[in-house]
Amino acid sequence: MRNPNPIKIGVIGVGHLGNFHLQQLKTIPDVEITGLYDTSTERAETMAREHGVIAHRSLTDLLAASDAADIVTPTLTHFEVGQQALENNCHLFIEKPITQTIEQAQTLLENANQRQKLIQVGHIEQFNPAFRVLAGQPLAPRFIEAHRLAPFVDRGTDVPVILDLMIHDIDLILSLVQSPVCSISATGVKVASESVDIANARLEFENGAIANITSSRISMYKMRKLRIFQEKTYFSVDLLNRITEIYRVVDQAPAPGPDELVKPLDGNNKKYVVYRKPQIPKENALNQELRHFIDSIRQSAQPLVNGYSAAKALEVAIHIQQMIDRQAVGG
Ligand code: NAD
Repeated sequence: MRNPNPIKIGVIGVGHLGNFHLQQLKTIPDVEITGLYDTSTERAETMAREHGVIAHRSLTDLLAASDAADIVTPTLTHFEVGQQALENNCHLFIEKPITQTIEQAQTLLENANQRQKLIQVGHIEQFNPAFRVLAGQPLAPRFIEAHRLAPFVDRGTDVPVILDLMIHDIDLILSLVQSPVCSISATGVKVASESVDIANARLEFENGAIANITSSRISMYKMRKLRIFQEKTYFSVDLLNRITEIYRVVDQAPAPGPDELVKPLDGNNKKYVVYRKPQIPKENALNQELRHFIDSIRQSAQPLVNGYSAAKALEVAIHIQQMIDRQAVGG
């Protein structure tokens, strides 16, 4: 039976990713899609026909009919569209990065707070099932190595690779290391676009943990990997192929648990490696992410990736970007 009070949501920006948002929103119970809005009338009409929803001619009309706005427009427009949606009393789902500047993110957060509206940001890797399986693990990372490589496409190049790709790993790392960042070093270069296409950053945390992040959008092949090292344990998370592997070193050989292998580490049988490859649920991360947004609105609870955590990731990303920009000017 249909819920008499569905969450009414409008999709703003129906380009490459907005199309997938519409596809997934249609599968979520208790959601009513109030329509879509795109500054390209042609694209709006094509998507409206394809998904059987209304293409609104004005953003104000769409917002007036909605409880929530799903903002999937280019990053440079997130602030302006987000402000307008808040002024129309909508909860916000904003694709990543939250905004282009920290000041804009702070203004959105203050505005949302005053109006008691929620902001969720599309850091989708938090919903990647290969990452989610870490949730039950005792995590205390000392060193994290992140690689995110992608072939060149024009989409997304309105912002440097740091705001386009690296911000995903910054967000994951900040959620894994519960300690403030105390030092950053970074370098990067423009290769194919007018902004930085490949970058490396090293983050040092107050608790001594270190993260080394490499991001490229000019790679021949794709890779999205996170390697987490801590005392006696190593986690390898392949976010692209959705494979998580856990290696633990123990003194006594335990009886292998489900999905586990036990092997001696040295010739004297004094240490053993327990290897586990957990089953990864076959979930659609975007679907899970949008369901989480709807549930958060229903329960009036802060979403997992809320405006505050997204603003922290943006702050680190902008620091990295500014550091690289200064090198370019100096060099
Ligand atoms: P896109 O260029 O394919 O689509 C953007 C659409 O927004 C276009 O149809 C355009 O006409 C429309 N548009 C532009 N300005 C608008 C405005 N002011 N109001 C309404 N519509 C407007 O871009 P995309 O690849 O779909 O990316 C959109 C957003 O999603 C970006 O912020 C990007 O960073 C983000 N993104 C996130 C992920 C992820 O992994 N979470 C992946 C890709 C893109």
